[in-house]
Order: sequence, then C-alpha cells, then structure tokens
Amino acid sequence: MQTNILGYPRIGSNRELKKANEAYWTGKISLEKLQLTARQLRRQNWETLHQAGIDLIPSNDFSYYDQILDMCIMTGAIPARFQALKESLVTPSSPELYFAMARGYQKNGFDATAMEMTKWFDTNYHYLVPEFDASQEFSLLYNKCLEEFKEAQAIGIHTKPVLVGPVSFLLLGKIKEESLQLPALLDKLLPVYIQVLQSLYQAGATWIQIDEPTLVLDLTPAQQDLFLQAYAKIRKAVPALKLLLTTYFGGLQDNTALTTQLPVDALHIDLVRAPEQLDTLLAALPAGLQLSVGVVNGRNIWKNNYDTSLLLINKAIAALGRERVLIATSCSLLHTPYDLELETDESVLTPQIKNWMAFAKQKVYEVIALKDILNGHDELLLQTNQHTMQERATAAIIHKPAVKARLAALTPADAARKSIFTARQKAQEEVLQLPLFPTTTIGSFPQTEDIRKLRADLKKGDITKEGYDTAIRKAIQDSVQLQESLRIDVLVHGEFERNDMVEYFGEQLEGFVFTKNGWVQSYGSRCVKPPVIYGDVQRSTPMTVEWSSYAQSLTNKPMKGMLTGPVTILQWSFVRDDQPRAETTLQIALAIRDEVVDLEQAGIRVIQVDEPAIREGLPLRQADWQSYLDWAVKAFRVSVSGVEDATQIHTHMCYSEFNDIISNIAAMDADVITIETSRSQMELLEVFSTFHYPYEIGPGVYDIHSPRVPTVAEMTELLEKAIQLLPARNIWVNPDCGLKTRKWPETEQALRNMVAAARNMRVAV
Ligand code: GLN
Ligand code: ZN
Repeated sequence: MQTNILGYPRIGSNRELKKANEAYWTGKISLEKLQLTARQLRRQNWETLHQAGIDLIPSNDFSYYDQILDMCIMTGAIPARFQALKESLVTPSSPELYFAMARGYQKNGFDATAMEMTKWFDTNYHYLVPEFDASQEFSLLYNKCLEEFKEAQAIGIHTKPVLVGPVSFLLLGKIKEESLQLPALLDKLLPVYIQVLQSLYQAGATWIQIDEPTLVLDLTPAQQDLFLQAYAKIRKAVPALKLLLTTYFGGLQDNTALTTQLPVDALHIDLVRAPEQLDTLLAALPAGLQLSVGVVNGRNIWKNNYDTSLLLINKAIAALGRERVLIATSCSLLHTPYDLELETDESVLTPQIKNWMAFAKQKVYEVIALKDILNGHDELLLQTNQHTMQERATAAIIHKPAVKARLAALTPADAARKSIFTARQKAQEEVLQLPLFPTTTIGSFPQTEDIRKLRADLKKGDITKEGYDTAIRKAIQDSVQLQESLRIDVLVHGEFERNDMVEYFGEQLEGFVFTKNGWVQSYGSRCVKPPVIYGDVQRSTPMTVEWSSYAQSLTNKPMKGMLTGPVTILQWSFVRDDQPRAETTLQIALAIRDEVVDLEQAGIRVIQVDEPAIREGLPLRQADWQSYLDWAVKAFRVSVSGVEDATQIHTHMCYSEFNDIISNIAAMDADVITIETSRSQMELLEVFSTFHYPYEIGPGVYDIHSPRVPTVAEMTELLEKAIQLLPARNIWVNPDCGLKTRKWPETEQALRNMVAAARNMRVAV
C-alpha cells in the first residue's frame, strides 16, 4: 500500500509566492530573487511530504501563475498575438512572455491583451484558457517538468512529475477556427508530451502523474476516442514509465469502460465526490492496474472521517490486494489552505471548531494515518478521530431552531417581486432618470496599500475604530468626488471597508468562522481566504447600510448598494458537509434579504447583489444541472424580492458562459445584469440576443484583470457590437468586474475613456 498526494499548495505558508510575483512585476525585486523564492517554496513542499513519509510526492505542481499556462509554454502553444514578443526575447522560457500571456502586455511597442481566464471545473481556481488556431504548431519550448524533477532529485527527493494530460489540455482550450479538428491537433501535440515523458524517463523518473480530469465530464464519442488515441501512442513511446492517470471532482460514470481500457499503470479516482463509483470500478478494473483511492478531501477543511475512508479502502483492498491500492487525497491540495497549525489565535478560531478541521499539511498526515491504521499501527488515532466526529455531529453551536423554522416557513411569494419587469422598469425610470448607456462600475475601487494597512492597523489595535471609520469615509468621499468628476451615472462607494466580498459578510453573519492564514490561490497572485460555514446562518445586525447611506449622502446621483449573493457566499466558502448545500444557501438568502430591505429603507434606490459564482456552481454533469439551478435561482430571488418595484436590483456575474443557462439567468428576474464580456469581444453577449433577453444588461467593456488601459475607440467598438445584439435602451456601460486589484492611475484613465465611449454612443444612436 502506497501513499499518494496529487498536488500541494504552491503559494507558500505566508503567501510568499504572491508577494514575490507582485514585487517582481512592479520591479521591486529581480528575476533571480523571484526564482529563489520559488525554489525555496518547492523545496519546503517536497520536504514536508518527504518527512511525512508520502511515497508519491508530486513535482511540477508548482506554478508561478497557473499550471495550464505552464502547459502552454511547455508545448509552445503561444497565441499569435504574442508571437512577436516571443521572437524579440532572448530566451523563449523568459518569464516576460509567460507573464505577458497571463496579464496582457503593453510595453516596448507591443500591445496584446491577456489570455482568457476561466474557472477550473467547479472550483474557485481560474486557469488561462489555451488558444488553438488554424496554423497551430506545438514544440517543446521549455521543459519545466524536467527541470523541477531534477531540482528535487538534487536535494535527494525522488518525485512524481505531474502533467495535465494532452486530451484535457486540448478539451479545456479554445479552438479559434471551427475547421480545426481535435484529432489533428492531438497528433501535433503528442510528440511534445512524448518528448517530455522520455526526458523524464531518462532522468530517472518512475511514476508520472497525468491529470485527465475531463474524464469526469460528459464526453462525446469523438472526445472519448481522443483518449484512446493519445494513450496508445504514449504507452508505446514510454513503455517502462509508470503512468498514473488521475481523475477527480466527480465520478467516471459512462466513461468508466473507456478509462479502464487506457494502457496506464494506475488509475486515480475521487471517492469523496463520487464514492459510489468504487464498486463499478472494482468490477471493471483490468488485472494489474493499480487503483489510487482519493479518500481525503482536497476541496474542504474538515477532518477526514476515518471510518468512512477505511470502509472504502478496505473494500478496494479486499478486491485488489494491498499491493494494488494507493491511498490518496481526492484531488490536488491546491484548493485547501496550507497549515492549520498556523492558526494560533483562539479568538479567531476557537479550539472547538479548530479541532474539526484539517488543512493541506494535516491532510497529508491523514493519508499517512489511514495507512498506519490499516497496518495495525495506530488504534488510538482511529479512536480519537471517532470521538471528534461524534462531538461535531451533536455540537450545540451548530444548530439554531429559529433559522430552521424561518426556512421551513418560506412561501413562493417570498421568491417573487411585486410586479413584472416591464412595470418595474417604468417605475425605476421615473425615479432614477438615467441617460441612455448609463455608466457604472461593479463596486470595488483599488484596494491600495494604504487601505489594506488601515485594516491591518485596526486588527492590530494600532488605530481606533473611529480612526478607521474616518479614514474609510475619506476614501469614500474621494471616490465619490472622482466618480462625479468622471461623470459616471450610478455611483458606488468603493468597497474600501471590505477585505473580500465574501469574507466581509461572513464576518458579520452567525454560523461563520474565520482563519488568519487560510489562503487559497484563486488566480495568478490572487489568493482568497474563504470563510468557513460551520453552523446555521443568520444576520443579527445590518452589515452595509451605514457605509452605503453615508456614500449616498455625498451625492445626488444614485448610489448603488453592494451585496454578495447567497450562492456566491456559499460557493466561495468552505461549507458544512452535514447538510445539503441548498439548505445552507437559503439560510444565507434570508440573511441577505434582510439587508436588501434595510438598504431600501435607508434610501438606497439601486442595489446590486453579486452572483459571480452561480455559473461555477453548476454540477459538472449536465444531468444534475436543473436541480441545482432551481435552488440557486430561488435563493437569489428570495434575497432580492423584499423590495418595491422602483428599487432597481442589479446582479453581476463574471467569467461566465451563459449559452446553456440563459433561461435560468432570465429567471433570476434581476432588473440589470452586468457581465464580463470584454475578453471574449462580446461573444458572451450573443446568447442574450438570441434569447431576446428582456432585462437591462451591462456587458463589460474592459478587462479589469490587466493593468492595460483600454482606448475609447476599442470600447466604443465593443458597444457598437452590443447594440447590434440588444436594444440600445437596455445597454449599460461598465467594466468587466470590480477594480480592487487595479491601481488608481490606470483605473482613472480607463474609466475616463469608458465614459467617453458611452457619450459617443449617446450621440451615435
Ligand atoms: N462587487 C464586487 C467588486 O466590485 C464584485 C466582484 C466579483 O464579481 N468578483 O469587487
Ligand atoms: Zn465580477
């Protein structure tokens, strides 16, 4: 029985990678310093896993920005707009090209927009979407996988290199021309993979982990065929290399027969998300194939229930024998925070709740513990675990009768506005008096160092609450002044008081608990610290009313109240695993509803309830979609339906494709939706047109993930595309998303240009 970790968090125990990346981007540290930090982080991870006694230790799970971007560089899949940059650089592996693809590039006469970014399956991690065009060629540009394998070797640690598999790499990418055939692309791509695998073999690698998580998705026969083609060729090219094919985030279901006939040495399955697949797999597994059983959840922060895991592992052992079973995490630990032991502040995380939890490092030891228990070494570990599980199941701090009663009393009327949209639109028109192409932003303004320092100082006690409030009020004042001078129509207060759009609410709601250092990578250098929902949720006091009313008092223009929606709060938190997600979400919806009603009462006429995570919450299999969408849309409606017709409800979603869920988006019945569309050149808007989407809509006219300042002309052009698709009356003008990660100078310039574009449009129509 061997132990197997699929991947480890790479940001560092104190977000060292984030800090080093950002310092490098702003020229504060050298490339050498950045590389040194990265080397140290990799070394720490390997040593942690090595010391714990893990057999299959991953390498190449490190990435400066994103593992899919790494694969693009590895295979030379460089989008055409970066070719000139690539050629101008001395080394093709230069981080300049790498970061340019990730973040956009506007320097030395080059001007290229960043690659598109999208959610990694149903996680809150984002990857950069590979782009394949008609002239697509692949070649080994930089063998990072080999470099990192050797780096570990040099410090005496034998690792299992991790690669995103060729088929998933292609399926997760974007095919720029329809004429492009996947089999032909695969044929061109495979030689690069084979070259990498051979180089690893020559360097002494034994196990290679190839991630093919697309095997848990609905696949067409043609897509299934790609796997057969790919693995037959790979097997032939590297007969002696041990291939561990991993699947995670779901069950293999109808891809089981396909997967079990692939010529690999071991197969990994996720038994946390799909425990029911074990029986099928055990029956279908060909002789000789090893099975890696993912029993320790890589997606949450709760302690493993050893009894549950042992049941599964024992079943596998009974069918296959010990030699053929590997004990593993369900997926990479990338999606969990680093180390629970860093949580030492008992006023933040009480010992009672902390004792229910496990982070990446603890999960590594859980994998080891399961092995030890099975080997008869550690009865006590099992007993302690059983005790903890029982204590949590019955803990009084989790269950609140009043919350459960309110939920049970919900009626359909609670999920419906008073009138239909056309009537509301009229009422809102009268109250708001907005011009055509009204301009707005999505909520947050730059979270500058000063602002973040304020919050840190308040936490440390270096400034008083009054001092903090005064400073935040000043920031709001400045932002209102700026927005007025820019002539934006619907203003925002800027969200300066918020550390994060979910954490801010979680901190004020009951049933949530926080960590000090529970950071998880979201994209690139951006990390989030998800709240933990451990018990029944309710709101005890207003959460945003004071700030929004203050901001409204500074201007005659409408000030938009800004809330995070129930589904997003759920999606971006670590959730309880002791009740259905739908139930937790409706509890949150009721809490947000109370806030929406209070905002209206305080004179706020436009209220935005952000639901960027609705799309990412979609189950991976289409058969499961509708039941999810039903409760997700209901939760949103419950949260916003307490207001009068004249109060305008906005929602906002980013990184979403709407093609297959447009009727559900319409069913949300939001008066205005703002969406991210600029990176796709308004392509994402087309489905709203085909659907005859009746509501108002703000298709983002510029990408906020890049520091690049968009020109008036390019935004005007996007808006011109928009009015080809939807009635001009319904079009709003706004960026793709909030501006918190941007700096002020570029923000101001971009917004100035954006307003100019809107004004152009008013003249044009
Ligand atoms: N209102 C939030 C902001 O502006 C929305 C963020 C998001 O959609 N991710 O930051
Ligand atoms: Zn957004």
